[in-house]
Amino acid sequence: MIERQIKAYACYNLDKDTRYNSTSGGLFLAICKEIIDRGGYVVGVEFDTNFNPRHAITKEYQGCLNFSGSKYPQSDTGYIYKDVKTLLDKDEMVLFSGTPCQVAGLKSFLKKDYSKLFCVDIICMGVASPKIWQSYLNHVFSNDDVDYVRFKDKKHGWTKYSINIRSKTKELHELGGRNIFMNSYVLGHQMRESCYECQFKGKNRFSDITIADCWGVEKIIPEWDRHDGISVALINSDQGNFLFKIAQANLEYKEIPYEKAIKENPYYSMGKELPPFNKFFWWAYNELGFLFYWIYDASSFRYRAIRKIWSLIIKK
Ligand SMILES: Cc1cc2nc3c(=O)[nH]c(=O)nc-3n(C[C@H](O)[C@H](O)[C@H](O)COP(=O)(O)OP(=O)(O)OC[C@H]3O[C@@H](n4cnc5c(N)ncnc54)[C@H](O)[C@@H]3O)c2cc1C
Ligand code: SF4
Repeated sequence: MIERQIKAYACYNLDKDTRYNSTSGGLFLAICKEIIDRGGYVVGVEFDTNFNPRHAITKEYQGCLNFSGSKYPQSDTGYIYKDVKTLLDKDEMVLFSGTPCQVAGLKSFLKKDYSKLFCVDIICMGVASPKIWQSYLNHVFSNDDVDYVRFKDKKHGWTKYSINIRSKTKELHELGGRNIFMNSYVLGHQMRESCYECQFKGKNRFSDITIADCWGVEKIIPEWDRHDGISVALINSDQGNFLFKIAQANLEYKEIPYEKAIKENPYYSMGKELPPFNKFFWWAYNELGFLFYWIYDASSFRYRAIRKIWSLIIKK
């Protein structure tokens, strides 16, 4: 069988604010703009009124702005597959975005190909638990009406991301590594079981284009300023090629070798490792609730050291 060739591009949105407010380099909104201009619909992930991520549909560019920015807890897909099918059956153009497993889920639901369906997925480390996310929010902002959440804020730059949460009376702004929620997510706790054995890695994906952070870009295009973020686009199909071509009007871009594009992005090719003591993490969280979570946070430095030693023992 001939291996599928995948073209890769480093790129960033020419609009400074769009680029800054997006998680990577603002490629997603560059694509959305062109789909909306052509009368199409965009499906993406926004927050509901309780700041739970959910899938929604829009026909306005303004609506796409709600989709911008990574939301790490798993999104609620609700009836989105059915709504997408209804639009496609009316011969409407639809851009669907989500995790690789959500794109696979949509394709399996539709059961046939539609020429006006375009799918974008992300390189996906795994999704965080909506249950832990809600208990974190309630604990830190109890009785306060949260009105803003950004999981990856670029105040300190793209590579030193921070989480920013605001209510009318309080603001939390913490570097990702120091934040209790982000820390336990990045360490690999609180993910869905299937994320540890994800089936949709490497070239085994059903999207037309995969978008992600262009980690390692400083070694490929050292002259580019990275502060506000750089995206990578991996073109998986002819539909993906079309999407990237139309988005070019809003982008600075450069083709880069596929191997270099994925080299520093481990979760393109593999799932997150199941952390040791994960069963204990969940047992203690379910028994002790947030009390455990705080103890966990306080000891996370020690925990990381234990984890390192554990992985060395396993490797021996
Ligand atoms: C759970 C998760 C894990 C990720 N893991 C990695 C990784 O390991 N490596 C990496 O390089 N990039 C990862 N990303 C992707 C990256 O953070 C950016 O979202 C991506 O590069 C797009 O950035 P952008 O600047 O083009 O646009 P943005 O405007 O930031 O695009 C946001 C896009 O992400 C989608 N999205 C947001 N939240 C969710 C969600 N909960 N579920 C499904 N889709 C969502 C939106 O619909 C939209 O398509 C992850 C994103 C998420 C949500
Ligand atoms: S890691 Fe895999 S299974 Fe988990 S959300 Fe991402 S695509 Fe889905």
